[in-house]
Amino acid sequence: MTRYEEIAKRICDADAVLIGASNGLSISEGLHIFAEDQAFGDIFGDFKERYGLYNILSGLLARWPSQEAKWAFLSRLIGHYSIGYTGSPVMDQIRDIIGGRPYFVVTSNGECHFELAGYDPDSIYEIEGSWGEMQCARGCHDLRYPVFPLIPKMAAAEKDCKVPSALVPRCPKCGGEMRLGTSDEKAQQRCQDFIGKYHGKRLLILELGIGWRNQLIKAPLMDLVQREPHAVYITVNKGEIYIPDVIREKSYGLDGDVTDVLKLLSDTVKEERCVCG
Ligand SMILES: [Zn+2]
Repeated sequence: MTRYEEIAKRICDADAVLIGASNGLSISEGLHIFAEDQAFGDIFGDFKERYGLYNILSGLLARWPSQEAKWAFLSRLIGHYSIGYTGSPVMDQIRDIIGGRPYFVVTSNGECHFELAGYDPDSIYEIEGSWGEMQCARGCHDLRYPVFPLIPKMAAAEKDCKVPSALVPRCPKCGGEMRLGTSDEKAQQRCQDFIGKYHGKRLLILELGIGWRNQLIKAPLMDLVQREPHAVYITVNKGEIYIPDVIREKSYGLDGDVTDVLKLLSDTVKEERCVCG
């Protein structure tokens, strides 16, 4: 039995799947928020020149001179990477690995690709917030509002790195500024409920593109693997595989390009499923 066949067998045996995903998965789909690269220059060259932005993250964290400029950047960003997103092979491969089992996704990626690729929105926890929602920046009330329906109009009207003032989203209660959605407590609760439900069961934890130092997702997932006697942990990352000794027996580290590893893994799982049903 090859190593991939062994892993595929463990996947077939699982009762439920918990996916943890971070930047490395987005990169495999062509979205690299840290990269100071040609793609950033091609899409945001004018913002780079005018506001000194050097990557997507610097735009997400920028102190904008106006809401018109902020929403010009956001509408182009979201228009390109979320509204224009039509799924990817890795999203299909993850679905193949899940194979109809109950699942939950915890991700630090905010671009909504799981949801846009057809995953259940109630089974996703975007731990660092979401580009698909906005809320009152001063927090006068907790309600979240959808962002995507506003984007095409803003993106079309954007000129000289600004959107018209009339299109700038405002808080319906206080009239103040809106910001992109922060981490959602309800989604966090759903995540905890999922973990509680599969306590003691064969929970497969599939970690995708998360750096070894990550405290936000990786550290809690490794703690969960340690606590759960029947958990299986699969960590996929390029060049950075970290598995502590205490969970080594129930862990598999797959070092390589996320796209390549997922392709091989999902193909092996499909073959295995033919054998084990
Ligand atoms: Zn408000």
